[in-house]
Amino acid sequence: AHLDRITEVDAKVHAFLHVDTEGALNAAKAVDERRAKGDALGPLAGVPLALKDVFVTQGVPTTCGSKILEGWIPPYDATVTRRLKEAGVVILGKTNMDEFAMGSSTENSAYGPTGNPWDLTRIPGGSGGGSAAALAAFEAPLAIGTDTGGSIRQPGAVTGTVGVKPTYGSVSRYGLVAFSSSLDQGGPCARTVLDAALLHAAIAGHDPLDSTSIDAPVPDVVGAARNGDVRGMRIGVVKEFGGDGYQAGVLERFNESVELLRELGAEVVEISCPHFDYAMPAYYLIAPSEASSNLARFDAMRYGLRVGDNGDRSAEEVMSLTREAGFGPEVKRRIMLGTYALSSGYYDAYYGQAQKVRTLIARDFDAAFAQVDVLISPTTPTTAFPIGERADDPMAMYLADLCTIPSNLAGNAAMSLPCGLAPEDGLPVGLQIIAPTMADDRLYKVGAAVE
Ligand code: GLN
Repeated sequence: AHLDRITEVDAKVHAFLHVDTEGALNAAKAVDERRAKGDALGPLAGVPLALKDVFVTQGVPTTCGSKILEGWIPPYDATVTRRLKEAGVVILGKTNMDEFAMGSSTENSAYGPTGNPWDLTRIPGGSGGGSAAALAAFEAPLAIGTDTGGSIRQPGAVTGTVGVKPTYGSVSRYGLVAFSSSLDQGGPCARTVLDAALLHAAIAGHDPLDSTSIDAPVPDVVGAARNGDVRGMRIGVVKEFGGDGYQAGVLERFNESVELLRELGAEVVEISCPHFDYAMPAYYLIAPSEASSNLARFDAMRYGLRVGDNGDRSAEEVMSLTREAGFGPEVKRRIMLGTYALSSGYYDAYYGQAQKVRTLIARDFDAAFAQVDVLISPTTPTTAFPIGERADDPMAMYLADLCTIPSNLAGNAAMSLPCGLAPEDGLPVGLQIIAPTMADDRLYKVGAAVE
């Protein structure tokens, strides 16, 4: 039924870069056979899922939305891919994304933009716009995204779906094509909080193949999603996120959520996180720096595209021609920024300084979580903007992640879930819930309460 739905709507939505019809049908059949044999199956066995095209999949193309990986077929599965398969999840295909996950609108995909199913002339968020759109268009009930600065939560917010960035280190990055290794985190996307929790439980947990993987039990996210009791919880409203630059309807829906949490028995207080104002500049030094290093592997020799290899040219010339043709403008911008920030003599002034700001932001969170159980804010300052509106203005595009970036810098957990439609445009608004490191269960408890 989901493959039929994809055939019916995806020419318009363009959530998928690759639909693996045969693989999906085989996986579904295998689950049926196990069920017929009386095997014990988990809760997600046979459930279809849309996988962001940044996770490698054995035998199935993986492009990261880039021309430089066109035609590349990975020889192995990412740990997330493997865990999904082991849970009996049916992977329908790979979803569209901003090239190498750099963007907030999916317009930076080399394969064309994805439409927001609420209004196809608007962006579905990014970089994981394909995964979020697949959920909102009912092409899949579950999806996987990655969140480096907001790429799970912001698409969730603007498509009226649920998206979770788990604690950094709790979902393996093995086989996740690296953008900014100290920030990247895979996570679940779904249409309900409980669905997201079930998916979270299936993909999280220690992985010896990822050196930053946390070796500790995953919090009981499913139990928390089934509980939803916020009585006596202390909830902090981040003072720095609101006011000027925020759409009126976004703030209206956010304030309603605050009232609802009070009515449900939570104590709501205002919390100041003074260094959050510096999160964006710090992010746009750290993320491009790490990206410039990570993307050096696309050297025209190892993967995908190779341009100008006529037998006369040197390896450097072929590499340069390939990177010129294979990377899009945003990727090139980040490589330039990152290479500059890391260059000799500038390291301390830029990357080093940004890392210090990162520590200050983590301390703001520590101080906040000494007073409250979770923090809340709007996920993003505005609802979905029209395709093209910010495409030529990187700074305006970067603002979409104002509220999401601090949690990536500090590594803690955060969720976005729908909290109604903005009255002025009828588009979904996202509520962000932020929890301390390895307290991901609190996201689900509060999320289930307000859902
Ligand atoms: N929009 C942010 C960026 O462009 C975040 C992307 C992400 O989380 N992958 O870097």
